[in-house]
Amino acid sequence: MPTSESTIRFIDLKRQYASIRSELDQAILRVIGSGSYVLGPEVDSFEREFASFCGSDHAVCVNSGTSALHLALIAAGIQPDDEVIAPAMTFVATVAAIQYVGARPVLVDVQPSTWTMDPNHVEAAVSNRTKAIIPVHLYGLAADMAAINEIARRRGITVIEDAAQAHGASLNGVMTGSLGEMACFSFYPTKSLGAAGEGGAVVSRDAKAIARIRELRDWGQREKYLHQVKGFNVRMEAMQGAVLRVKLRHLKTWIAQRQERARRYTALLAGTGLGLPVIPDGNSGHGFYVYAATLPGRDELRKHLGEAGIETGVHYPFPVHFAPAYQELGAPGRFPVSERLAAEELSLPLYPEITDHEIQRVVDSVKAWRA
Ligand SMILES: *Cc1c(COP(=O)(O)O)cnc(C)c1O
Repeated sequence: MPTSESTIRFIDLKRQYASIRSELDQAILRVIGSGSYVLGPEVDSFEREFASFCGSDHAVCVNSGTSALHLALIAAGIQPDDEVIAPAMTFVATVAAIQYVGARPVLVDVQPSTWTMDPNHVEAAVSNRTKAIIPVHLYGLAADMAAINEIARRRGITVIEDAAQAHGASLNGVMTGSLGEMACFSFYPTKSLGAAGEGGAVVSRDAKAIARIRELRDWGQREKYLHQVKGFNVRMEAMQGAVLRVKLRHLKTWIAQRQERARRYTALLAGTGLGLPVIPDGNSGHGFYVYAATLPGRDELRKHLGEAGIETGVHYPFPVHFAPAYQELGAPGRFPVSERLAAEELSLPLYPEITDHEIQRVVDSVKAWRA
């Protein structure tokens, strides 16, 4: 479908740029003029500011959310043949990072109400080889961390949050990034806090783990050319640090706007038969990275909305074990809730800059299709 004046984009990063243009332009020019393009003071400052935003002590920035997961797993001491538990419904990076360290991903199903990792399945999946659990705060809703942390504490297992979709979200007043031993964020442009390119971070109170990741991201160097451990080149660019510092100043407002627009969708879509996002008791801090509705026959509604000039997304059309590259992780039918979610989920356009009028148009189109 051609993009016309009246198309409602699924995400519109140009609108965000327009809203903070002079701040961003200044930050970018400052970096180009500084002659310092990789790591450096902008990244250092962003690390302090982002750790503080998350209510934690430390952050270390890398070049993607995937690298954050990879280095967090190394810092947690995960070895080949260790088992790491992850949900079957996530972006594939969660599982890929486990295999980067040679460990074995053990998938578990998600809960039918919240779509996050089901603690009962986690309990059942723990073996004496389990060394870490990676709950994913899917769509911006924090996983059931109290139950997951309790299982991990009893068994001496590390909990690493995959918070790539959950910037600015919270659980009972505690920010994501402070809910496990380490937390991994992505700053891919379309995420709730996005760079002007790739980026990621690990947030933690564990100063030792953070120091280890700091070495690993820059060739394992403690001093220049003294390679203490075998490392990687996964450093953050200075430009991304500068852009993220600007955007972080707006993040609280943007999350509140996402929440307000999500409430509007939920109020207006009541009674349409669509499954709407559930916010469990005691959790008011859904980050609403994605407004995930569900409907059997989702593809037909998606087509109808597309014809009405409304872009939508699907997160994700396949659970991890349905991907040809990862089919060894479970036969079809093994994770029925994730499989149903993949078949029924429809992501509606949601971003801080979307207007009430546009939301009304999406809702009207859904109702017209149902009628
Ligand atoms: C985006 C995402 C990642 C990966 O982040 P990149 O920055 O793209 O490497 C990992 N996990 C989840 C749940 C994500 O949504």
